Amino acid sequence: MTGSVRYSGGDNSILRFILYETWGPRCYWCHKPKEFNDIQIDHILSQDTGAKDYEELKTRYELPHNFDIDGPENLAPICNVCNGTRGKGKMNYGPRPVMLSQLEQARKLRPKVIERVLNFGNSNKVAEYLLKASQTDLKDPNARQAFEEHAPVIVQKLALLDETKADFISFKTVSLEFGEEHPFGIGVSLSGPSRTALAILEGVCGCTIKDALKSPIGELVDKTRQSARAEFEYIEGPVGPTTSGPPITLYLEVVVDSISYERRAQSLVFSFGGKFENEASASLVQQNPLEGHGLVDLQGDIQASGRFSFDVIWDFWRAPGDVDTGECLIDSWISNYVSTAKL
Ligand SMILES: [Zn+2]
Repeated sequence: MTGSVRYSGGDNSILRFILYETWGPRCYWCHKPKEFNDIQIDHILSQDTGAKDYEELKTRYELPHNFDIDGPENLAPICNVCNGTRGKGKMNYGPRPVMLSQLEQARKLRPKVIERVLNFGNSNKVAEYLLKASQTDLKDPNARQAFEEHAPVIVQKLALLDETKADFISFKTVSLEFGEEHPFGIGVSLSGPSRTALAILEGVCGCTIKDALKSPIGELVDKTRQSARAEFEYIEGPVGPTTSGPPITLYLEVVVDSISYERRAQSLVFSFGGKFENEASASLVQQNPLEGHGLVDLQGDIQASGRFSFDVIWDFWRAPGDVDTGECLIDSWISNYVSTAKL
């Protein structure tokens, strides 16, 4: 009965809830963390696609013959802002590599989404009540008061099962400036143990999060640029190798999502980890093999994502704030790239 789990146009709150939990508590389009009430269901490939365009999209995005435009393989949690006329709505589609990686993510999560929707509320009513509670509109002062009074009991109950389950992820943005460029916002998304590590770094070692991030993130930005640049060299046009112009970064999102610490001899070592997503494009030129036809102009797009890590070290005899930062390493790099004819 997996076909029964699909967008039906009616009340899809269970499906919306499960998509939000399975994809993670953020908008898949702008990547910002969002509250459940601010989330809607989005069709990655538009629901309004006509039959003829649909066949073309199937080829363009290498979709299987049984691809269901209303199925979880094409659904993702989007925020109200991005789903509005000023967000994704005004665009047709993003660059092909971005769309491919979004569809790939939906395809991977599909079995989990189906299983969780089918099992929702199977055993008793608790799941339904919790879904209702999570939809509370906290702008309503009475609802907010009730929530503040009674929700701690639920959190306490959860902690009795397993203390780590009662944790939450905090999110803030740290603004960094590099030379002449615009300030760059880094997401810092931390669980309880990571927040503790950060409190020690700030309170004991006297190093602010901004100071800890500045030089390693600067290195990360340079390294993603260099890696993107190297990949443009590999992009081929319809008739063979191309030469690329300087890449332009269209989008770079960096989120620090873990901090741990340990004592090594006379030092405290803080290990930072995080992920990035990068989109870049560049002009490509290709020699036309037909004699006398000059050059072919193309555009290259790349979309890459991966993880990075670095250490911040504070020796016990140092003054507060006097820390060393290790090299920022790119631990994984997955990319899609493509060339298209210039319009
Ligand atoms: Zn959004």
